[in-house]
Amino acid sequence: MNAATQYVYVNGEIVPENDAKISVFDRGFLFADGVYEVSSILAGKLIDNDMHLKRLQRSLDELELTSPLTMEDLNAAQIALVEKNAVDQGMLYLQITRGGTAPRQFHFPKDAKPSLVMFTQHKNLLEAPEFETGITAITIPEIRWKRRDIKSVALLAQALGKQQAVAAGADEALMVENGNITEGTSSTAFIVVDGNKVISRRANTEILNGITRQAVLQLIEETDIEFIERRFTPEEAYSADELFITSASTFVHPVVKLDDRTIGTGKPGSVATRLRELYIASAMSS
Ligand code: PMP
Repeated sequence: MNAATQYVYVNGEIVPENDAKISVFDRGFLFADGVYEVSSILAGKLIDNDMHLKRLQRSLDELELTSPLTMEDLNAAQIALVEKNAVDQGMLYLQITRGGTAPRQFHFPKDAKPSLVMFTQHKNLLEAPEFETGITAITIPEIRWKRRDIKSVALLAQALGKQQAVAAGADEALMVENGNITEGTSSTAFIVVDGNKVISRRANTEILNGITRQAVLQLIEETDIEFIERRFTPEEAYSADELFITSASTFVHPVVKLDDRTIGTGKPGSVATRLRELYIASAMSS
């Protein structure tokens, strides 16, 4: 735990977390009417942040939301907050909501002013115990809406899914729709077959286009690992050589158990290990 005062960014100001204020009429609070991004921080630097800001702009456009800051000024504000909280390794969370005015109404209020909020978290990303042992996961039914490509703050289905995983003694839940795995509650899912073939489904509206997924796929191009873009079933995952997930807050985590089935050797596999090492090396050198 970091005992130092945690500073947060709220609408143009960096303030101690206890002094931060957001209106109860903010539609982020009332309707989950907002979008977010999570970027990782290594050696005090934001990783893959240009891609995160690009996806943020796309999510904003899909909801006809306007950022209160240009992406350039937003980036400067992100850096200022990371410095203020002296984060060496961890995450930066940022969220833009539509704002809102009384009385509550469903359609967009004309004079709503969007809110921008950011906070940071310290986390040891390089020495994650989850990577040493691998993590465990369960499969659950996919119950989310149909625009999962938008990184919306409406995360109740994911929160329920993660809670189900934790209640079952697991770390992550992989959601299943029409017999196929869509993605993890907060991660992209991959399997490895035939030793060096990595399989992951296409990023359309059915899943979030993971930034770590995109970065890992770029790295794969420079290796002898083959990438196949297609859906896969839980049964394929059970019998795969490896199963792994990616996200900004975990990079690459091997999944060594899915439901009651051991995956591969039950230990982190060589492909996930290699991709994690490549990802970290590339992030550190950027
Ligand atoms: N899918 C979902 C549903 C997620 O919430 C996340 C993490 N935000 C991801 C995938 C991974 O995306 P990224 O690599 O951009 O963190």
